[in-house]
Formats: sequence, structure tokens, C-alpha cells
Amino acid sequence: MDIVRDRFNRPLQDLRISLTDRCNFRCVYCMPKEVFGTPTHFMPPEDAMTRQEIVTLVRALSGLGVRKVRLTGGEPLLRQDIVPLVRDLAGIADIDDIALTTNGSTLTRARARSLKEAGLHRITVSIDSLDPERFGRINGVGFAPDRVLEAIDNAAEAGLAPVKVNVVVKRGLNDMDIVPLAEHFRFSGHTVRYIEYMDVGTSNGWSRKDIVPAAEILQRLSSRWPLHPVEPLYYGEVASRYAYDDGAGEIGIIASVTRPFCRQCTRARLSADGRLLLCLFAEHGTNLRDMLRNGATEQDIMNTVRQRWEGREDRYSELRNGNPRASKRLEMFQIGG
Ligand code: SAM
Ligand code: SF4
Ligand code: SF4
Repeated sequence: MDIVRDRFNRPLQDLRISLTDRCNFRCVYCMPKEVFGTPTHFMPPEDAMTRQEIVTLVRALSGLGVRKVRLTGGEPLLRQDIVPLVRDLAGIADIDDIALTTNGSTLTRARARSLKEAGLHRITVSIDSLDPERFGRINGVGFAPDRVLEAIDNAAEAGLAPVKVNVVVKRGLNDMDIVPLAEHFRFSGHTVRYIEYMDVGTSNGWSRKDIVPAAEILQRLSSRWPLHPVEPLYYGEVASRYAYDDGAGEIGIIASVTRPFCRQCTRARLSADGRLLLCLFAEHGTNLRDMLRNGATEQDIMNTVRQRWEGREDRYSELRNGNPRASKRLEMFQIGG
């Protein structure tokens, strides 16, 4: 097997795939309803990669070193073919980790079980507050937090525990939920991961003052329950991990803005319409789906991806401080978080 490395010697190890750009939520930091109120903002369904196209692309990229795949979106569980897709991906010899990130809104017990049986290894469920009014306002559609908590239970019962619980923290919006969320999940076996609010896309009105820096998140938690750092589990792990001194489990903090981790960024991304993106903040990418639709072979895909990865110099978060923000960045739901 070939390991392909970029200009900064970073290997290509992980692939995030946006399965759809659509979502049944309108989270204020991702797809604000004032901007994304109508279907015209989304791609026509025929533009989305088919299950077969996704499988072919993952097989090709596994030949260049990709071992982990994360399915995301948009809301990946809106794809009706999600279970067979997971099954197909699990059948690719070199892929040894398949994970999925979801808002949990459609994760019934039966669906969680089918995903597990199909070969899903891990699941991340997002929830930004336990307060019904606040959570309803954040998700933009009044969805109740209890239903997401139920989804987390369903995942755990299906054998997908421990669940990672993603919380985007935005000052004034839900920073008051940092401690209650930790309290809820202490001793549950699940890991809450606090994510600094990022300037992805151009529609969420991001401003630096909206960030609650990782240091402050940690301080707020550790002043309540003492915590100690835990070594990363693997090269390129994005969350800084901390364990409660009293044995209640772990939390993670993803400090994408205040402590960028570009140096160890081993991720490529596929947008829902098949563009290969080398950074979360990329503006352009080669369309691999178009290549397939025009007759490219797996070997052609491998050659193209190798060439792109070998030329990769992306490190947006490290440069963010000195640089004006680019104006055409893609939205989070198009790239897949
Ligand atoms: N719909 C699924 C969900 O919400 O879990 C998967 C896609 S979503 C784009 C993936 C992750 O990105 C979610 O945990 C979400 O909270 C996070 N996210 C979205 N916009 C963000 C932003 N501006 N800054 C930081 N994280 C963000
Ligand atoms: Fe949908 Fe996830 Fe974006 Fe929220 S964060 S709008 S659930 S894609
Ligand atoms: Fe990777 Fe780009 Fe994020 Fe840096 S900014 S960690 S290169 S995705």
C-alpha cells in the first residue's frame, strides 16, 4: 500500500464524506433559517453522489492510505440508502473505521441497530443544550432535546457506545450549557466534545467575539470538577482530551480557532456532489464524481487524488490570524463538518 504525503509531510488517513447538503434542522451556526429558508439553496438530488460512486471513491482513496471514513452532511440519516451504504463501505478491505455524525432526529432504535449490524463502528450525536427553549431556538425548528437524548440511548443500546456528543459553543447562545451538559453525561460512558464556534462558510455571521475559547471552557468545567489531561489516542486526534479526577469519564475540547491543529491534519473531504476538498475552509476542489461520470477508472481517481494531496499546502486555521477571511468558502453542510 501506498502512503501519500502532502507538502508538510502529512499523510492522507481520514476521509469525511458529506452524504447530502440537506438537513431537517436549521442550526443558527450552520444553516441559519433566515438564509436557508427555501430549497433553492440546495443541490438537485441527481447531483449528489450515488451510493456506488461513494463506494468506488472510498475504495480508490483507501489505496492511498485512507483508513477512517466519517459520514456526515447535512444530515446523513436523511439518505434513504444509508444502511446499505455503510454495509458496502464496511466491505472495503482497508477501511477499518466507519463513523457517522448526526443530529439524532431520526435515529430510532431500529435504525441504530441496522446501522450497527451493517458495520458502523462509531457514532457522534450533536446536541447544544438541554434546555428545550434554547435548543429549539438553536436548531431553528423547535426540536426537543429529549428526543436527541433518546437517540443517544438508542445508539448505546445498539452497541454504538460510547457515543461522542458534539456541542458547538457560542457565547451568549449556549455557554450557560457547558456545565449542565457535562453534568448530564458524567458517569454515562459518553464523551461530550465542546467545539469552538468556527468561521466556516459565509452565512453564519461569525465574529471572533462569539467564540468561547477552549481555555475558558476548560476553566469553567475544572472549577466545578477537577480534570487532568489525557494523552491523544492516535496521531492527528483533533480533540484535546481530559478526564475527571473522580473517575466520571472524559470530555474533549476541539479548539479549532484558538489552538489550530493543521500540523497534524490528515483529512480529506468529499462534498455531497463529489468535490475533493483538502481543507474545511477550501473554496475549490476537483470533482471526482464528474470524473467517474465521464468514465474515469479507480486508477485515474487515485492518480488525481495523489497529485492533489502531494501539492496540498492548506493550513487555514494556522494562518487565520494574519489573513483576511476568504470570501467564497463553502458552507459547513456542503463540506460535511
Ligand atoms: N447534521 C449532523 C450534525 O449536526 O451532527 C452532521 C453535520 S454537522 C455540519 C457536523 C458537526 O459540525 C456538528 O456537530 C455541528 O454541530 C458542527 N458545526 C456546524 N457548524 C459549525 C460551526 N460553525 N462551528 C463549529 N462546529 C460546527
Ligand atoms: Fe443540520 Fe447538522 Fe448543520 Fe445543524 S449542524 S443545520 S443539524 S447539518
Ligand atoms: Fe485541516 Fe484546514 Fe482545519 Fe487546518 S484549517 S486543521 S488544514 S481542515
